[in-house]
Amino acid sequence: MKYNEQELREIPKRLYSYIDEKPFTHCIECEKYLLSEGTEYLVERICKNYPEYGTTETIFDYALCMECAMKLHSQMSLESQRTLQNYFMKNIDLESRAHKKNNLTIEDAISNCLVSGKTLNECKEYQVCAHCVGDKVYMGNPPYMLSGVVLEEIMNMLSNKTQDIMNGFYSRHRTPTPGIYEPDPRLVLV
Ligand SMILES: [Zn+2]
Repeated sequence: MKYNEQELREIPKRLYSYIDEKPFTHCIECEKYLLSEGTEYLVERICKNYPEYGTTETIFDYALCMECAMKLHSQMSLESQRTLQNYFMKNIDLESRAHKKNNLTIEDAISNCLVSGKTLNECKEYQVCAHCVGDKVYMGNPPYMLSGVVLEEIMNMLSNKTQDIMNGFYSRHRTPTPGIYEPDPRLVLV
């Protein structure tokens, strides 16, 4: 895949690994090294807002190489894959998003929930996802944010088999932090 220089942006701190405050270096599933040129991967971060304290907490973050992301996606039931596709087609204005893409900043791209339009601050919980290439964010497929409410809605539409796969992924990788982690698995959306 070829990229335009202007489609590649520096990875912002917001998408760094929460633990060591640096860009992710390895895939959470297969340990593939990610920062070499042309390596595609996704970065996801799930956060929770505490408006009463004015703070945001990172609940879970990771990088997943494209091969592993595809593999996970292909394990979903066909029914769920179709459900997801329909849901996004119905709820996201892809055309206007594609139109805005050229002068979009990363912060703009994730400032509102892709589906509900809620702002980051309005969401109790949210997930940010970015498509990266080597040490850059790929704006050809701009980062997005989904609110916890929307994620839950999506999760509930999926088949049991798909929910099991998602649950399996999260329970394999997340560090159990009792009290912080809510028992709601999230999605890996490709
Ligand atoms: Zn991988």
